[in-house]
Amino acid sequence: MTDITLAPIQPDQPSHLMATYGRQAISFVRGRGAYLYTEDGTEYLDALTGIAVCGLGHAHPVIAEAIAEQAATLVHTSNLFEIPWQTAAAQKLAEVSGMEEIFFSNSGAESNEGAIKIARKFGTQQGVSSPKIIVAEQSFHGRTLATLSATGNKKVQDGFAPLTNDFIRVPFGDVEAIQEAALQHPDIVAILIEPIQGEGGINTAPQGFSYLEEVRNICNQHNWLMMLDEIQTGNGRTGKYFAYQHTNIVPDVLTTAKGLGNGFPVGAVMTQGKAVGLLGPGSHGSTYGGTVLGSRVVYTVIDTIQKENAVENAAVVGGYIVDQLRAQLADKNVQVRGFGMMIGIQLPKDCGELVAIARDQHKLIINVTAGSVVRLLPPINMTQAQADDLLERLIALINNYL
Ligand SMILES: *Cc1c(COP(=O)(O)O)cnc(C)c1O
Repeated sequence: MTDITLAPIQPDQPSHLMATYGRQAISFVRGRGAYLYTEDGTEYLDALTGIAVCGLGHAHPVIAEAIAEQAATLVHTSNLFEIPWQTAAAQKLAEVSGMEEIFFSNSGAESNEGAIKIARKFGTQQGVSSPKIIVAEQSFHGRTLATLSATGNKKVQDGFAPLTNDFIRVPFGDVEAIQEAALQHPDIVAILIEPIQGEGGINTAPQGFSYLEEVRNICNQHNWLMMLDEIQTGNGRTGKYFAYQHTNIVPDVLTTAKGLGNGFPVGAVMTQGKAVGLLGPGSHGSTYGGTVLGSRVVYTVIDTIQKENAVENAAVVGGYIVDQLRAQLADKNVQVRGFGMMIGIQLPKDCGELVAIARDQHKLIINVTAGSVVRLLPPINMTQAQADDLLERLIALINNYL
């Protein structure tokens, strides 16, 4: 093992890191399941899991062993060769997603870039010279130039003009706005939406998941690709393997990342039906996409989610957390929303300061998004006892605050 010990970070110490993040002045040196630990051994309950990434919890022994064994065997050979673990990972992902073709990338944004390329290719094949994609207000699709252009958040786009002109924006959940856009823009070829908006504030459509069915119908009617961004909602997060499985529809294009690697950087863009075959030889690629190591991690994560019945657990324990929050906060002016282990508590006022209060006073790691929404993204395999622990800390936090 390494004999390097890092000095603790001093608050006034100059850093060479680009100042792109507003970081909390705390670091964790170790994790186990739903808990994180600082150097001095203080334990924190993690209801954020690295932003919906470590769905199986921290330092999962099966994943850790797979990484260690593969790292000591073979990490990377390139996509110039057959990679049996990549084929096996794709087989597993096809099984749980219902999709046909899979391309492995390294992040969420990169997966969405793949989806946008697929939509452009689809349009080009139909003689559309400047294909357009419908996206939603308050959406988040990533930080690359195309995905930030797709994102419905001015802060993400500010200063990065020119944006790509692929996108037409409609309110999330508004089906009539989509039909109106269809009348105005004959060059629309696809829709890209999140089943539940994560960064936007755990927003579900007013009509619930039937929004996805309505969007599917419109896509069929106009011969558009239905593309779902399940980078945050996928991999068991909402109590189904993918959130669209709360409905009877299947998208044409599906993207995921975050929980797919449990902390290892991987992503995927998947196709079925009329989207199959659009990206052929030479049309897309990635040096690191689907390395031997990354693919083995994906395979092992999916296999572990299946063996632990973690998706069912997310539905049951997540449902319990939502019910308890609604009951115990009934006298407060809050709205609890979400599915499975993707839960938002809409407070009546801006509450960004709750992140520090939760951390320092309740040893609880949470996130606040969209200004006034407490966002909970606990491990999908969280136990009932841990959920009670979470509820106790959270109810005390919110009761003290409101
Ligand atoms: C996190 C996220 C992304 C971007 O993923 P990165 O891995 O940060 O590029 C895109 N879409 C959604 C819905 C996300 O939650």
